[in-house]
Amino acid sequence: MSKITKGSCSCGAVSYEVVGEMRDVVACHCGQCRKQSGHYFAATNCANDALTVSGEDNITWYAASDDAKRGFCKTCGSALFWRPEDRDYTSILAGSIDGKTGLTLKEHIFVADKGDYYELDDGLPQREQ
Ligand SMILES: [Zn+2]
Ligand SMILES: [Zn+2]
Repeated sequence: MSKITKGSCSCGAVSYEVVGEMRDVVACHCGQCRKQSGHYFAATNCANDALTVSGEDNITWYAASDDAKRGFCKTCGSALFWRPEDRDYTSILAGSIDGKTGLTLKEHIFVADKGDYYELDDGLPQREQ
């Protein structure tokens, strides 16, 4: 049987289910992720056909750049998804997963853009971009 992962926004208007394994979590410290999250973004991902979303009508998709759009709940503001325009996967905010994720944080990206008020000292790989 395939692993099933469920997640939802804070108010419950949007929920989702992923069938199968998900990528380990990547923390993105880029300016867009910092603005949207208020800190930094930690996300897993899956192929689009593994993801089923309920309450899609309640998602606002915001294109912070030409390459990708960010999906959040229009009622409670929970950040849920990041979807590139030209590739067939969706990044999913790790904090939106319900219960245990079974995932591990594996690396930090865009650390050149990180905030000056925190240190990254967990020993994980750090990529400038
Ligand atoms: Zn919500
Ligand atoms: Zn980012």
